[in-house]
This record gives sequence, C-alpha cells and structure tokens, in this order.
Amino acid sequence: MLQVPERYALFIDNEPVAPLSGDTLPVVDPSDGSTFAQMGRGGGADVDRAVRAARRAFDGSGTEPAAGPWGRLDAVDRGRLLRRWADLIDANREALARIESRDTGKPLGQARADAQALARYFEFYAGATDKLHGQTIPYRHGYTVLTLREPHGVTGHIVPWNYPMQIFGRSVGAALAAGNACVVKPAEDACLSLLEVARLAAEAGFPPGALNIVTGLGGEAGQALAGHPGIDHISFTGSPDTGRRVAQAAATHHCPVTLELGGKSPQLVFADADLEAALPVLVNAIVQNAGQTCSAGSRVLIEAPVYRRVLEMLAGRFAALRVGPGRDDLDLGPLVSQRQQQRVQDFLSQAHADRLEFAAQGTVVEHAPAGGFYQAPVLVAGVPPAHRLAQEEVFGPVLAATPFDDEAQAVAIANGTRYGLVAGIWTRDGARQLRLARQLRAGQVFVNNYGAGGGVELPFGGVGSSGYGREKGFEALYAFTSLKTVALRHG
Ligand code: NDP
Repeated sequence: MLQVPERYALFIDNEPVAPLSGDTLPVVDPSDGSTFAQMGRGGGADVDRAVRAARRAFDGSGTEPAAGPWGRLDAVDRGRLLRRWADLIDANREALARIESRDTGKPLGQARADAQALARYFEFYAGATDKLHGQTIPYRHGYTVLTLREPHGVTGHIVPWNYPMQIFGRSVGAALAAGNACVVKPAEDACLSLLEVARLAAEAGFPPGALNIVTGLGGEAGQALAGHPGIDHISFTGSPDTGRRVAQAAATHHCPVTLELGGKSPQLVFADADLEAALPVLVNAIVQNAGQTCSAGSRVLIEAPVYRRVLEMLAGRFAALRVGPGRDDLDLGPLVSQRQQQRVQDFLSQAHADRLEFAAQGTVVEHAPAGGFYQAPVLVAGVPPAHRLAQEEVFGPVLAATPFDDEAQAVAIANGTRYGLVAGIWTRDGARQLRLARQLRAGQVFVNNYGAGGGVELPFGGVGSSGYGREKGFEALYAFTSLKTVALRHG
C-alpha cells in the first residue's frame, strides 16, 4: 500500500533526489487549505541533471546514437516494460486515487477513473511498440526507398494539475513507447501521484534515466525544461499564454512542440434531439473535475423552440448537485487552489454585474471545511456570444447557455471563439449530424454523446488557440517520432 510521505523528492535516474538548492514547496490540501507535505523545488540545474540522465539512458556514453540501455532496447521489450508498469498501476489504483484526490481535491471516484485511464494508456501503448513501422515508397527504377520512424531522443513533458495521471499517461506513455527517454515537469499544484507512478516505473524495470521527474515552479523548472537545448521535443498542456512562452523557449533551439491549450467547447442542442439522453451528458461535461477540464462542455447552445424547456431541465439538475471534500465522493470536489477559486469568482462577479440570468446553482455541503476552495456549480442563461463568459475558458463549474434560431447561427456561435478543441451535436437528423461535424471548428466532434468515454485510442488536440499537434491513439506515436527517408540506388 502506498503511503503519503511528508517530503517528496525529485525523481532522477530511478532515485528520489533532493533539489540541488535544497528548497521545498508546500503541498496544499484543497479540501481545507492545509499544508500536508513538502515537495522539492527543482530549478534549472536539476532540469539539466534530469536531461543528462535521460540522454545517458537513450544514447549511453559512446558516440553511437541510441546506444544507451533504454535506446537500444528492442521495441517488444519496451512494450513488455510498459505492460508491467500498467499492471503495477492497476494493482496500486486505489492508493494512487487517494493521493490524487487529496492533492487535487477531485472526488475519489473521478480519481479512480484517472488511475484506471493511466493504466489503460500504458496498456494501449505497450501493444503498439512493435507495430510502429515505416513504409517502402514506389520510386524510380533502380531505387529502393524506405522510411524509418525514429524516436526524437529526449522528450520534455509539462503536465498541468487538472488530470495529472491522464495527461502524463497519454504523453509519456506514447513517448516511451516510441523509444524516447522522458523528463517531466508536473504542475506545482499536483505532483504527488506522478512521483508515485515514477517509482512504480523503476519497480517495473525501466532502466535508470528513461523517466525523470523534476517538480518545482512553472517559471523556474518548467521554463528551464522548455528552453533546454538537450530536449528534442516538448509536449505541453495548459493555458494559451504559457503555451506561447513554452513554444518561444523551445524555438530557440528549433525544438518541435505539441500544444494542448484548452477550449471553450460548445454542445449544440437541436429541437429534435433526445433531450432525456442529452441532459445528464450536458451536465457531466461541465461538472466533471469541477469544470477544470480542457475539453469541458462549457457552452450549451440551444435551439429557440426548446430553449426554455432545456434550461428548466438543466436548472433542475444543477440545483441537485452537491460539492464537498474529495473523500466524500460527491458530484464535485473543491477547486485545485485559491487562485483558481478566485478566477472563477471573478468571472461570476462580472456575469452578475452584467445582469446575466443565474438560472440555478448547486450546493456546497455544510460540513465542507471553511478553508477549502469550494465553488458551487452555476448555470448562467442568456449569455451573449460575445460575452467573456462565452469566449474565455473559466476552468470551473460554470455553464453558459445561449439560444440560437437556426443551424447557420448555431455554427457561427459555436465557431465564434478563438478556441477549437471539442464540440458536441445533439440531433436525430443524420444529414445535419454529418454537415455539422464538418463545419464545426474543433479537433474532436461528438454526435449524440460527448467524449465517447474518453477513449485512449481517439486522437485528441485542437485548432486555433486550443493548440496544435495530436495526442492519444496512434497519432501520438507519430508525433513522438521523426521520419527518416532512406533512398538506396542499386541499379
Ligand atoms: P499554466 O498553463 O500556467 O500551467 C500549466 C503547466 O505549465 C504547469 O505544469 C505549470 O507549472 C507550467 N508552467 C507555468 N509557467 C511555465 C513557464 N513559464 N514555462 C514552462 N512551464 C510553465 O496554467 P495555470 O496552472 O496557471 O492555470 C491558469 C489557467 O490555464 C487555468 O485557469 C485554465 O484556464 C488554463 N489551464 C488549462 C489546462 C488544460 O488542460 N488545457 C490545464 C491547466 C490550466 P506550475 O503549475 O508549477 O506553475
């Protein structure tokens, strides 16, 4: 059984190591605001140490590339290690979920689902390592041309606090499967589960340096990782502004970047939709993880003839939602931090000042500790498409409802933000389903569902300010490799 130690170190070369500065940061429990552990405050020198460890694992000390203990491992053996790791995660699922719930505030049931998804990512990528191959290309007479898919080398992963295990799984799972050695910078607000998961990697038998974790602040360890010349690819999930900074830092040494930057994702509800089926999904899409989800369905666009009816149905469900400590496993836990709570309250204050209609809100349970970062879920109606609440990512449990008159207006409103991550369509009209799936500006479109259960197999990523590049599924494996063309002239 995993325990929560009071002091968490960095994880480099399969060992817990203190940051070179010796500095630590408090780990705060969002359910009551108390500090319950300390984590290492890694800096640039620690990142450098981790990158060197990863480079040794990948390249070894010789001059031949990819000759290190990790770099020369056969694809099938990489898969076996990932599979063993997945099994260990599965065996420790409950303990990981409890740590995650305490660290991030999320309800236990949702933390359990995250741990399960993490194991599933590794299971999926374990089976893919020996199926990732190049092609032969028909070319001129006398030539044979083939392509090789090669790992980048050392990859950097900057992980946010909302789904640490899942985002780590989709990014690090694919990178390791493709043969890269990894350096990970978790979010300051959520790093404990990943340190435990790294320890399980060592137990599974990954060679030292294949996976390294440097905890610390974004502006210190994160910035150092993004700009480190020894990093060959960066994968970042977080806000558009930080994403821009990461891409700029990586550009200094022409390092490729995958950016997943959140969204303002709409669900379009037409009058002919199966409303009973849609309702729980519409609510869950904004309530899950207290709305701190990049793909949260934070806008609901409703066709005018059913607008009031859908609003009433939604209001009924919102009023029944309960918020409390993660260990109580209610509909919502606290938000991750006081900063995030303040951000959500600022959005709501502005909506209030602008006299938007607060159609319903849930309840924070009475026994929730006073120092916790609780926020009742709120349904705001009649939100004009240009309003800040319909344009910007709140990253909290706030659903903005807006009516529309016809399909063309629905598409214009749906596409009318700088984001383009996910969209949902609710209609029984088959032609409309396909038409809108093509017209909506998003990386994923769901018809008569939202998220399809999260499937690790489904490529994920956005357009516009939602970022670029794709994670999950086989697409991620392509992103974590570079393609080499080899042309042989043999006559
Ligand atoms: P950030 O984008 O700042 O943080 C995401 C990750 O980047 C964290 O690991 C963070 O570390 C790290 N980071 C921060 N600054 C830098 C930097 N200069 N260089 C490299 N890495 C850095 O998000 P915030 O946590 O500040 O949240 C603000 C808003 O961003 C949220 O309200 C939400 O709207 C959005 N967001 C979106 C996410 C998504 O999944 N799309 C996830 C998280 C946030 P650290 O936390 O230690 O500072």
